[in-house]
Amino acid sequence: MAVMCPDHRELLNWMDMGIPFLSGNEDLRYMLPGMLMQKAWIERALSAEEEGKKVVYNQFNMYAELFNAFDLVAIPPEIWTLLKVRLKDGFGMIETIDAAHEAGIHPELCSAHKSAIGDQVLGDRIPPPDFIVNPSFPCDNTKIAYQVLAEITGAPMLVMDCPYFGPDTDEEAAMAYWVNQVKELIRFVEEQTGKKLDPDRLKEVVEEANRGAEYALDYASLRQLKPLPQPGAGGGSAVGGMNLMGLPEWTNCMKALLDDIKDRVAKGKTAVPEEKLRLNWFYLHAFYDFDVYEWLEREKGAVSPVTFSNYDRLEVVDTSSTESIIKGVAKRLLQFPMGRQGTGSSDIYINDCIDAVKRWQCDAVILSGHAGCKYIRGLLGLLRDELRKINVPLLVFDEDTFDPRVAPPEEFRPKIEDFVDMVIANKERENG
Ligand code: SF4
Repeated sequence: MAVMCPDHRELLNWMDMGIPFLSGNEDLRYMLPGMLMQKAWIERALSAEEEGKKVVYNQFNMYAELFNAFDLVAIPPEIWTLLKVRLKDGFGMIETIDAAHEAGIHPELCSAHKSAIGDQVLGDRIPPPDFIVNPSFPCDNTKIAYQVLAEITGAPMLVMDCPYFGPDTDEEAAMAYWVNQVKELIRFVEEQTGKKLDPDRLKEVVEEANRGAEYALDYASLRQLKPLPQPGAGGGSAVGGMNLMGLPEWTNCMKALLDDIKDRVAKGKTAVPEEKLRLNWFYLHAFYDFDVYEWLEREKGAVSPVTFSNYDRLEVVDTSSTESIIKGVAKRLLQFPMGRQGTGSSDIYINDCIDAVKRWQCDAVILSGHAGCKYIRGLLGLLRDELRKINVPLLVFDEDTFDPRVAPPEEFRPKIEDFVDMVIANKERENG
């Protein structure tokens, strides 16, 4: 019989080798929390059936605390599938992307979704779902892809209708509507699991999530220091928030990220010896080119204090009553990076990008133009205009965040290099 999830088992072996190496290296220790968290999640997912736990496919823009309050195993299929991107020299998602193409899925779909569909088509790549939850944010890709996932797996699916947020939205009415959607979610999960929500367990899980959220916010504020104390693109609540939030493994990950940066600050360590440029990557850069940040640090003295996926707008939830918890969790669900910006008007994305530039003291913005992502494509001109007003240059280039065949790093790295050189030269000229 074929082994279930062979790629993820290979990843576990790879992590078993990487973890002792990273643990013993103070300068690379910042990479360890994410790896430990991913390992814990893969193991949890692979043992779900044996442990008699139900699996929910929660679209990846959903923090998982509610699901963890029901003791479910949350598997956002896009995140599951993208973990393998770095296998096979960065071509780790190709087989499943192509399986989706061959099954008739249109090539314009976000390749994270194509690969998630390919996992189902090939049959042995991901634990099957007991049910599926898909909110209507952030984009059309999720809406259509989840219908396909529900059709192939036969699992019941709840679609959560997110109200439109924009400058004219009546926020109070919109939030009241959304809180009712979250109550509908709780009813759906109760029906699927045959278990009533336990208010004590919910409180416990949300208090655990609050601890992690506070660590994540403290961590984000230390990444705002200039010069940047810690290398790489940093972490944030999105690291594991969609599968382990509310469990100690997630809290530990947030705390370890914070402890590492605090330790570096205390020791006076910086990401680079001389910081020449601070970049805001306000989209997901190609996952098969993950060392781009270290490359820019090494070659250019350019650091990346903030990215789209660690721009955190988390809030701590009031746990004084079950009603306050549900309201707080509902609000928090709308803050997931990418999900938040996909809840309505492009103002949200543009304002957040500018806010990130200002708070993380960035000199320039880079957007890796993911082929499937229409909601970003539609606002690029507006964003460029707003950034010009504050004299912040913007680079956009074409790629596919999960499929290196569309544009390999050899094609876009020279564009990044030219842009960074130009912005550094301009900055030096302006500073005399
Ligand atoms: S990357 Fe873009 S296209 Fe893919 S899920 Fe996110 S918003 Fe949608």
